[in-house]
Amino acid sequence: MSELFATVRRERSETLDGVKISLLLNAGLSADTEIAMNDAADGVGLFRTEIPFMMRDRFPSELEQAANYRRILTSYAGKPVCMRTLDVGGDKQLPYFPIVEENPFLGWRGIRLTLDHPEIFLVQLKAMLRASEGIDNLSVMLPMVGNLDEVRAARRLLDRAWREVSAEPGIAPDGIRYPSLGVMIEVPSLLYQLPELAPLVDFWSVGTNDLTQYLLAVDRNNGRVADIYDALHPAVLRALQQIIDSARLYAKPVSICGELAGEPIGVLVLLAMGYRRFSMNNSNIMRIKYIVRQSRVDELQKVYQEALSHKHTGAFKGVFGRYLEERG
Ligand code: PEP
Ligand code: MG
Repeated sequence: MSELFATVRRERSETLDGVKISLLLNAGLSADTEIAMNDAADGVGLFRTEIPFMMRDRFPSELEQAANYRRILTSYAGKPVCMRTLDVGGDKQLPYFPIVEENPFLGWRGIRLTLDHPEIFLVQLKAMLRASEGIDNLSVMLPMVGNLDEVRAARRLLDRAWREVSAEPGIAPDGIRYPSLGVMIEVPSLLYQLPELAPLVDFWSVGTNDLTQYLLAVDRNNGRVADIYDALHPAVLRALQQIIDSARLYAKPVSICGELAGEPIGVLVLLAMGYRRFSMNNSNIMRIKYIVRQSRVDELQKVYQEALSHKHTGAFKGVFGRYLEERG
């Protein structure tokens, strides 16, 4: 298999009927391995910036953060790198910033926390911008957005961070490009605000892990309810279809960065729906590229219609499972 993947590594990610697919990396952990994947991936679709924060015993300074971000941006020069702002809270705790809550997944998480602590947020935004000087590949993404005022407030802070860093004496005039700004679609309330969200941001990325958790009210980390945590639940499928349809309607670039994109049946379903940009852990990227190269989108659209005619999720998955088997 590894020989097969070594060949696939150099091939383009394109379906048999010529549809080009972008395969990006979810990064944050073991950055060196991920950098080694550079030539196989089309960039970084999700850099989980909280992970380096979690591995320390105090908040990293702006310069420490900037050095880390610069390393990632330069190693992917010429390819897009999407950095997500700090997404702590929920299951991701910082040892030096404990948050004690009864319902952490419904509490002070992601953008909610960083907007309440603009000093933390601004330092991080400035570090990202500083790191991007002279390299044109940074985009910034906001986690856990549930209402549009959060986007507006984050945009104001990004404007301020950009103005302040750009005006520093050591920074070349026009050295820092204003980055594109996007949001994770992972809180279900956004599903009902997509028309209003579209003009506020440059791109969307669907976090299927949390979107599934919040749509189904099933804790993504609780083994006791693991059998009802299902990213292919009919309600999740409908949400995903609605997002891609709206992305087309409003001409908004959209990607998937939840685990579903790295799962064989998941990626086939997403291809059938119309998604073309997927971000995943490096352990999945070769396998998914191989599957993409064995598939035809025109066939998958028919397979999807057939699968939808089945009432049960098991049968739905079975139809895609057979498609996979037939293609080795
Ligand atoms: C998600 O929620 O799908 C996602 C990609 O973010 P995280 O897993 O880091 O919460
Ligand atoms: Mg998430």
